[in-house]
Amino acid sequence: MHPRNPYNKPPDFAELARRYPPLRPHVFINHTGSSTINFKSLAAQKRLTEALFRLDYGLSLTLPDDRLCPPVPNRLNYVLWLQDIVKSTCGSATVRGLDIGTGSSAIYPLLACSIEHTWNFVATDIDERSVQFAKQNVSQNSMDSRIVVERVQADGPMLQPLHTGLMDFDFTMCNPPFYSSAEDVSRSGEFKEFGPNAVCSGAEVEMITPGGETNFVARIFSKSLQLRTKCRWYTSMLGKMSSIPDLVSLFREHNVDNYAITEFIQGQTRRWAIGWSFQDARLPDTFARVSNPTLQNIMPSRNTLHHAFPGARSANILASALRNVLVLINGVTVTSSAPPAIYDHSSTMLVHARSNTWSRAARRGKLPETVHADQELPVLRCSVECRGRSSYTSSDIACELLFTWVEGKDRLVFESFASHVSRKVTSTLQEFGDVI
Ligand code: SAH
Repeated sequence: MHPRNPYNKPPDFAELARRYPPLRPHVFINHTGSSTINFKSLAAQKRLTEALFRLDYGLSLTLPDDRLCPPVPNRLNYVLWLQDIVKSTCGSATVRGLDIGTGSSAIYPLLACSIEHTWNFVATDIDERSVQFAKQNVSQNSMDSRIVVERVQADGPMLQPLHTGLMDFDFTMCNPPFYSSAEDVSRSGEFKEFGPNAVCSGAEVEMITPGGETNFVARIFSKSLQLRTKCRWYTSMLGKMSSIPDLVSLFREHNVDNYAITEFIQGQTRRWAIGWSFQDARLPDTFARVSNPTLQNIMPSRNTLHHAFPGARSANILASALRNVLVLINGVTVTSSAPPAIYDHSSTMLVHARSNTWSRAARRGKLPETVHADQELPVLRCSVECRGRSSYTSSDIACELLFTWVEGKDRLVFESFASHVSRKVTSTLQEFGDVI
């Protein structure tokens, strides 16, 4: 479950039914005395999705009986993860997304546009019936100027709107058909999205695709290799954890090191999402890595590095040592940002380095100190957060520097900067007489 997902506990169905009367006939009191609905009933599932759409997002939804009824909490997880990605790596005033396989509900564009007022979408599907309903859902919510629904061909290019569009996209998203065949569906024991024993109204086109989801996402990846920076982040939801290693191998084969993996746990259902980028903006580990032990050897490398200074007396002293060190590094500009309130004391400095002047090779004159004429971008942007106690005795939290890679091509530049700064901070603290 995404930490910002408000559906982290079961809804109060009786209250929902009071506020959305069409749900009322489906609510009953179970053996524990709580109100619930019958998840085996498609009508009950549909009324629940409509109720959440109406009451929480002010949206109205028309769902056909023969297509998937999307559960809102599960779909919201993916939107919130994209919101994290967009907020940390995209600076544009208007955000453009592509939803591949939007389905009859157009749930992702509708949810996302109601939460984020600067977001716009192109939404595609191959299924004529879903496209008709998706268009109707967009229109009945007066979102036509922000969401364009397009019918595409099953064997056509998966990223068609990026080929033809004049403008670049900030992200692509997709909830692909997960399975390769009807046997694959029955083997998986799905569909638990609505809870145990829930029914699934998914049509074959929504559930099954040749080669399953791995092949579907591999097709998107292969197109992205041509389009590269035309879109900042290419992403997809995945229904099977086993698809992730195959896709990561593909990334590694093509030297794509800027990727992210996340996991959504919603009741009994586990889903994953994967994203990759050809741009230099990097994601903090909280959005790009998960702690699931099974996935550790395929996680992207860390973009967040901790260096502890257990002897430093306070975060304030650590911050002034850091400031002293940073001003002495050639080509580095520092700006400060407001401290987050989680720690006793913390301050963040944003570092912008025009060239690598700190590595051993640079100091021996083996690396050019000046920026190449064709290189307008900095070699490194990172944030350095100084966190810890406000005084030596106030708590037992150790002081630490938290380096987060924000932008750059070369991981070694970031890592060498973090170790250079940490070494220098240690000696500066010693000069201050501050390390015990
Ligand atoms: N986004 C919706 C529907 C997901 S089901 C939701 O999350 O509820 C997968 C969708 O992908 C189906 O609507 C299916 O018709 C569509 N689809 C299958 N192959 C496609 C392709 N090549 N291009 C675009 N959409 C496709």
